[in-house]
Amino acid sequence: MTPVIVTRFAPSPNGPLHLGHALSAVTAHDLARGGGRFVLRIEDIDGVRSRPELAATIRADLAWLGLRWDEVAPQSARLSRYAEAAERLRAEGLLYACRCTRAEIAAAARASGPDGPVYPGTCRGRPVVPGEPAAWRLDVAAALRRTGSLSWHDERAGEQVARPELAGDPVLVRNDPATPASYHLAATLDDAADGVTLVTRGRDLFAATHLHRLLQALLDLPVPRWHHHPLLVDETGRKLAKRRGSPSLAQRRTAGEDGAALADALRQGALPAGIALSDALHGAP
Ligand code: GLU
Repeated sequence: MTPVIVTRFAPSPNGPLHLGHALSAVTAHDLARGGGRFVLRIEDIDGVRSRPELAATIRADLAWLGLRWDEVAPQSARLSRYAEAAERLRAEGLLYACRCTRAEIAAAARASGPDGPVYPGTCRGRPVVPGEPAAWRLDVAAALRRTGSLSWHDERAGEQVARPELAGDPVLVRNDPATPASYHLAATLDDAADGVTLVTRGRDLFAATHLHRLLQALLDLPVPRWHHHPLLVDETGRKLAKRRGSPSLAQRRTAGEDGAALADALRQGALPAGIALSDALHGAP
């Protein structure tokens, strides 16, 4: 029996959805067609940037595209699960407290990784000062010693050896009581909790998957497959985003555009003028 495919669309309600989000949602939706399940998860963990009112707009946009989904709990309802997982990693000696600022990291970094300057491990081994506000980073080398070599499968790029060390030691617990977990920890735990079997998202998150695979091994989570789809880019090759002038889905919707026709156009690769698909492998080793 073929296992049921469970995919997801996991937008952060930090700004309006645009065409790139539509491509992501339609891709995930269609991969679950034929008896699968398409899950919507609102990733509203960022207490500062999240705008709760946008969740309703996101739903209206998806319905306008002609999609149907099963909605699961938003991240803001799951904070205690993230804290428990972090506590487990901390108790296993795999997290260390870090007080470095972004500027300090940029100044001290000796390498650039898929997501910018690679944290050089400044605080690794530094004694913990009780009560001191700090972020908590995963000691990737120690974690990999624990798990051994790992691999994961992308449906488009094939079998991958997990290389989480390329991006340095990531923050898993932010130094921010309003947003205790990082995206990486929260999304990895949620995909497992939501029964996701095929993580569908853009190629800009390809490198993050190396870390997510490591977290799955450390936390005994099931291992899904991944589908990193191409990104929509503008004439300059940059990822589409609202701030670069691409109209939001809500603007298209309220202007009377036909959402189902737009979804079909995306399926067929018929893109508006000036927009192209890019299969550049962001963050690939
Ligand atoms: N919440 C993330 C975003 O909106 C997507 C995360 C994911 O698909 O894993 O960019």
